[in-house]
Amino acid sequence: MRASGVLLSILCGPCVCIYVGFAACFCPARLHRRSEPEDKRRFERRQRHAPRPLVVRKRGLSIPLPEPEPEPEKLDIPSSPEELKQTTVFQEKSRLMALPLELREMIYKAVLGDDVMHVIHKENKLGHLRCKAKSEEDCPKRWYGEGPCRDSCWGVVDSSNIWMPVGDPAERSDGDVLPLLQTCRQVYSEAIPLLYSTNTFSFIDLDCLRHLSATILPSRFNAIKSLTIEWYLTWPLYDDFAQRMLFSTSLYPPHDEATWEEIWRIIAGMKGLQRLRVDLNYFDGFRDNECEQKMLAPLRQIKGVKNFTVYLGWKGKEVIGAPFKLTRPVTTGADDSSEDDW
Ligand SMILES: [Zn+2]
Repeated sequence: MRASGVLLSILCGPCVCIYVGFAACFCPARLHRRSEPEDKRRFERRQRHAPRPLVVRKRGLSIPLPEPEPEPEKLDIPSSPEELKQTTVFQEKSRLMALPLELREMIYKAVLGDDVMHVIHKENKLGHLRCKAKSEEDCPKRWYGEGPCRDSCWGVVDSSNIWMPVGDPAERSDGDVLPLLQTCRQVYSEAIPLLYSTNTFSFIDLDCLRHLSATILPSRFNAIKSLTIEWYLTWPLYDDFAQRMLFSTSLYPPHDEATWEEIWRIIAGMKGLQRLRVDLNYFDGFRDNECEQKMLAPLRQIKGVKNFTVYLGWKGKEVIGAPFKLTRPVTTGADDSSEDDW
């Protein structure tokens, strides 16, 4: 056993030296991965401020509510805040409620639907920012180098990728949808399905998708029809050789393989999903095609999504038999002639 280990070291040693030397010369970013303590600190801070999963609780705004206990001396309009919170009053005099449901739904969608919601990781909860661009295609690229572009409509994040308000302390991070939803229970019950079914939910942080699935009702999560993910894969994802030979520790969530595969299990379980756009970046691509195939394997498990597109921000081989339409950067003849193995 010891002899085979020595033999393996003798055989693999030169390969490792060539690999490190080549990477340092031609792709230094691969070797300039964030140091482990920094990765660990970021992970621990995000763990401390992770949104807590949904607990079973009495619904505050949903209809129907349980029948209140009959108390003859306390009929009609409630008086205390607690009674107000738990009492449903029929809104027959409301002009909004006098409209047909179809018209009310048009109003709800105009206020809180048919838009792109960028989901952000805040301290102990999630938030969402409405896309400021005219269309999804016009939304500025969220990534610059290895992190979110600060000029985009994602706002500003700290070193742990947790959103932080800047400028106006009252900066909203709820998509400005709460005032309408809190109007009354009937409005809430009629409008809340449209919030999930008519908006595109946009992510640049895998943890946000994981937390969203755990912090809202499954029926709401399954009502989501449109999803976009933009993610910068972290080296050396799925590169067993590099992980074993160059690093003694593995990647921290959400940059590790386990989180990546969990995310795709969650997406595979989204019953209402009809549109999925994934935009991936990874330096200048995978070391070999086998690693890329391992990364794409969980995506192949997604079934029944009508419009599923994947963009890989690096050159590579054609992917066959996948449930998604894959695109890569357009290469020119000049690019091909100078292409290296990276
Ligand atoms: Zn945007």
